[in-house]
Parts: sequence; structure tokens; C-alpha cells
Amino acid sequence: MTTVYNFSAGPAVLPEAVLRTAQQEMLDYNGTGIPVMAMSHRSDTFRSILYHAEQDLRSLLAIPGNYKVLFLQGGASAQFSQVAMNFAHGFARVDSVVTGNWSQIAHRQMGRLTAAEIHLAAHGGNLYGFKNLPPVGSWDVGPGSAFVHFVANETVHGLQYKDMPKLSDGLPPLVCDMSSEILSRRINVADFGVIYAGAQKNLGPAGATIVIIREDLLERCPDHIPSVWNYKAHVEKQGMYNTPATYSIYIAGLVLRWLQAQGGVEKMEKLNARKAAMLYAAIDGSGGFYQNGIHPDARSKMNVVFGTGNADSDARFAEEAALAGLRQLVGYKTLGGLRASIYNAMPLEGVAALTEFMAEFQRRNG
Ligand code: PMP
Repeated sequence: MTTVYNFSAGPAVLPEAVLRTAQQEMLDYNGTGIPVMAMSHRSDTFRSILYHAEQDLRSLLAIPGNYKVLFLQGGASAQFSQVAMNFAHGFARVDSVVTGNWSQIAHRQMGRLTAAEIHLAAHGGNLYGFKNLPPVGSWDVGPGSAFVHFVANETVHGLQYKDMPKLSDGLPPLVCDMSSEILSRRINVADFGVIYAGAQKNLGPAGATIVIIREDLLERCPDHIPSVWNYKAHVEKQGMYNTPATYSIYIAGLVLRWLQAQGGVEKMEKLNARKAAMLYAAIDGSGGFYQNGIHPDARSKMNVVFGTGNADSDARFAEEAALAGLRQLVGYKTLGGLRASIYNAMPLEGVAALTEFMAEFQRRNG
């Protein structure tokens, strides 16, 4: 049987060991005789699953004690407006950095249910055609803004801040969408007001969205918004305001345990750097047959966008690669081309197999 490597941008590859455990526990979780999927979210067993998932996340990211952790629903897309609904009330302005597809959507959605002006702090499209990232020092951010929103890794455009942006004291809190890079490298949580991430890339199946919130910001949550959108309501009910995405949280918990066993985020960071270096070297070493137009300093280590510059040839590449076991390499619907997402659960061997296939495809078509 061909070994299959899954390069999907999300929902994405999960560690095989996690899937095997889930398979074993599918019908009877830990001797309870009940599947996790069919278990009350208020049972001691599920509460324990949630507790351990949170503790493992806290330990992997070294989350300080003054941060709350929530597993919400609605995906990262819900967070685009939820952060503004909760944290911009009473403020005249929110600063928003646009660096690609997802921050562009966030920018447009953020203003829907808030009176605050969503101020464009920087636009990587106008500046660099989304081929490079505006440095944090160039962002037009003001001390009176409610917060500054940005996306650390642009999943579609394949851009990533190499050094994680940090604002100096006196400037507003940073709110960061880390959906497609959370747990892929070390971060200093204390540099952020809020971090959020959909689970379906580096963490588990779709359904759960992790939101890490600095405690003092909860005082801003206004009472007039529906409780289901109110972070404070979720925190007060220990993440049980309503039914959480139980199965997704359970799998995320297994992924977090797997990450611990792999040696944690530091180990992942090293491995991810090797994987990305290998793939970009294959692109750069192809004499122009494959191209990635992103500025070297802004190249994503998670989502590598590339192509031959010819749509037919890209389509053939994706089809033939799929037959060779290298799956889901088609680029984003609006950008075309090819994209290899190489999240934590993608082994080095998968990237090596892709680079071998790239060389072979070039020999046949170059
Ligand atoms: N932000 C980023 C960086 C993403 O990659 C995605 C999904 N690909 C989203 C937000 C939207 O996530 P969801 O579909 O879970 O709402």
C-alpha cells in the first residue's frame, strides 16, 4: 500500500498515534462503557478530559496564571467579530493589520457589531502585493485603541511573521489569530492580550476554537451582548456556558498529550524549521521550474505556496502527486497554484517524499 501524506491546509493531518487511540476508545472511553461523543459534557469524565486538555495546553505554551483558556465553537471566523464585541465596547478605535486573506476577512468582519472605527494599521497587499509583511514598527497603532489585531501566519498566502510581533508598553493589547501556527513554535503568551486559534490545523478536528485571554480584559465584556458571545459568561461557567464541542476537545487533548510526548513546542519548532527549509530549498534549487514568490523573511513554515507558473501543469502535478500518495496539494481556490501545509503532525519523511516527487516531476516535464 502507498504511504499517504496529507498536505491539507485544514482540517489537516493528525498524528496516527492519536487516531489509533481514538479508534481504541471509540466505543468505550476508559472503561466507562460510553463513547466520548455520547457523554454528558457535565459528567466528571468529560470535565476531566477538558481539564487535562487545558492543563496540557497551559504547560506546552507556558501560559501564565493570569490568562483564561476557553474552548469555544464558531471557528476562528467567529472570533473576528467576537473580539471586537467584547473588547472594543466604549472605545473609538480598533487597529487592524491586513497581511493576507484571513486578516482581510477579519478586518471586514470586526466592525459589524461594534461602534468603534476599524482602523487599517498596515496593509501588506497595498505595500507588497501580499508577498511580504509590514514590520511591526511600521504599524500605525495608537495608544487609545481597544486592541491591535493581526494574523501570525497567513494560511492562504503562505506568509508568517518570522519574529513574533510585540508592542511596547503603553500600546494596546495584541489580539492574534494563530489558527494555522499555534504550538508550532515557542511564543511568549504575556506579549498578547488575546490569542485564538481554530483547532483544525495544528490541534485536532474542526469544532473547537482555543481562546486565551488575559484576565483583566474580561472586565471590558459588556453585559448587553448575548451570553453565548460573551467571554466573561464562558469563563464564569468554566467553559460550560453551553455544550462545548466535546469530541473535538477530546481529540485536541490527545494531540496535546502527543505533543508533550514528542518533546513539546521547542522540539516541534526545530522540526518545523527543518521541514520548511527542505521544501523551500527544493523550490529554490529547481532553477525556476518551481516558484514561491514570498520574500525569504516572510515565508511561512506551515503553509508553503508554490507552483510552476502554469495552471495546467500545476493541476497535473496535484493529480500525479495524489496518485503517489501525496494528497491535498491544490492551492487555495482564489489563488490557484499548489500549497503544501506542513503542520506539526506532518513528519519529515512526508516532506522528503514531496521533494523527491517534485524532482521527478521536473525531470519528466522540465
Ligand atoms: N484564520 C486563519 C489564519 C485560518 O487559516 C482560517 C481557516 N483556514 C480561519 C481564520 C477561519 O477559520 P474557520 O473556518 O475555523 O472559521
